[in-house]
Amino acid sequence: MWGRESADSNFLGDRFVWKFMSIVCFWFRRDLRLQDNAGLFHALQSGHPVLPVFIFDEEILDKLPNKEDRRVEFIYESLVQLDTQLREQGSGLLVMKGSPEAVWKKIIQKYSPTAVYTNRDYEPYARQRDGEIKALLESKGVIFQTFKDQVIFEEGEVTKDDGKPYTVFTPYKRKWLSLLTEGHYKAYASDKIGSGQWYQGEIPSLMAYEGTGFRKSLEQSFPDRKIPVKIIERYDQTRDFPAIAGTSRLSVHLRFGTLSIRKAVEVGIRSNATWLSELIWREFYMMILWHFPHVVKGAFKPAYDAIPWENNPEWFKAWCEGKTGFPIVDAGMRELSATGFMHNRVRMITASFLTKHLLIDWRWGEAWFAEKLLDFDLSANNGGWQWAAGSGCDAAPYFRVFSPDAQTERFDGKADYIRKWVPEYGTSEYPKPIVNHAVARVKAVEVYRNALKND
Ligand SMILES: Cc1cc2nc3c(=O)[nH]c(=O)nc-3n(C[C@H](O)[C@H](O)[C@H](O)COP(=O)(O)OP(=O)(O)OC[C@H]3O[C@@H](n4cnc5c(N)ncnc54)[C@H](O)[C@@H]3O)c2cc1C
Repeated sequence: MWGRESADSNFLGDRFVWKFMSIVCFWFRRDLRLQDNAGLFHALQSGHPVLPVFIFDEEILDKLPNKEDRRVEFIYESLVQLDTQLREQGSGLLVMKGSPEAVWKKIIQKYSPTAVYTNRDYEPYARQRDGEIKALLESKGVIFQTFKDQVIFEEGEVTKDDGKPYTVFTPYKRKWLSLLTEGHYKAYASDKIGSGQWYQGEIPSLMAYEGTGFRKSLEQSFPDRKIPVKIIERYDQTRDFPAIAGTSRLSVHLRFGTLSIRKAVEVGIRSNATWLSELIWREFYMMILWHFPHVVKGAFKPAYDAIPWENNPEWFKAWCEGKTGFPIVDAGMRELSATGFMHNRVRMITASFLTKHLLIDWRWGEAWFAEKLLDFDLSANNGGWQWAAGSGCDAAPYFRVFSPDAQTERFDGKADYIRKWVPEYGTSEYPKPIVNHAVARVKAVEVYRNALKND
């Protein structure tokens, strides 16, 4: 290999030297940060210059229903930050758009890396894609190295004593905590290795946003990436009240890896056990998706696939638009459309309302959330929806139907949250309820009971 010294020498032109150095690539995906990044740390430790790569994956982008998409904007903004940080170190981020397979073929041809480093992604599509990319790279003599970064414990690391996966949260959490050591959340010094390890040859400048094929939406501001320690310290007392800033709002950063899970867990341990539990829920649902990929299409408990959903399209429309006549439901649905966020308590209320009061298939609601949520994550969203529908692991029993009024009284007693999102609340402009709560409740329990009677 040509050493870094050779690249610095004035004897040969820079371009020429970099062309003949053996380099490795680091492929950013759900880990858009330089700090505390496991795979990046290992790439930088390899002794070879590291070419950082991001691919706008057309297989994913082409399936997005709208050409304005908050997630694409969030990713793009994160890439701008990464690219700026890397340019300051004489390198840059190579951003390409296409199918991962086609893009890797081009990169191999142009840069001839000897290895590609990346962090593992556990979703079914990602697992399949990575299998194919590994085969492609290896067929060209390029090593594909993957690392655990997105979670503290992955795949089969937290199982029952007999090696089977947990399907109930509390014992999973107990085991998770019993296995945790400081080593699990120690930061990787990936941002401390020094600019000398980055590829310093020519890297084309980052494409304009339009190059992604998407349009910028008019208004967009993203939650702060800084961990709000003061909020987290009081989380157990504030987390259920949607009108106040009582939760961390870090979900999008954990989703795209602009914040490291190790850092979050370290703060959780120090500051609030209830908040730490939420991070464990995140891993619980990831583990469920890993072991039980059938949840993507059907109920975790298959008996629930027998529920005869009514799927009334008018009611679904009213729910999506926040016009059901149930103020807490409407406030949540309008917050979602306006901001891409919905408070967790309200996610539970709106999801329960759709599946129980309206008897609409949870997968319709899941798909709507998937389209709108900035923090959309397949495992958490699917887990949350199946929990609300009663069909998931450790779900609410089907006969417990949330009353929107009782929930409002407990968690938005002064209707501050409702008034914020439903300005016509309390006036004649506000829609009448599309169903009667008491009637809908009895009907839901009956429909569920009949469908499950042989279970
Ligand atoms: C129907 C439904 C759908 C959901 N869809 C998603 C989704 O697509 N993406 C997503 O990240 N969360 C989802 N959640 C979980 C939860 O509502 C959000 O993580 C939370 O509201 C995000 O706000 P926060 O960052 O302030 O969370 P905090 O309350 O501050 O929690 C800290 C972090 O813990 C994780 N977390 C918290 N609660 C859960 C949970 N129940 N399941 C998994 N992880 C959790 C998130 O990463 C969150 O950022 C869903 C919940 C329900 C009921």
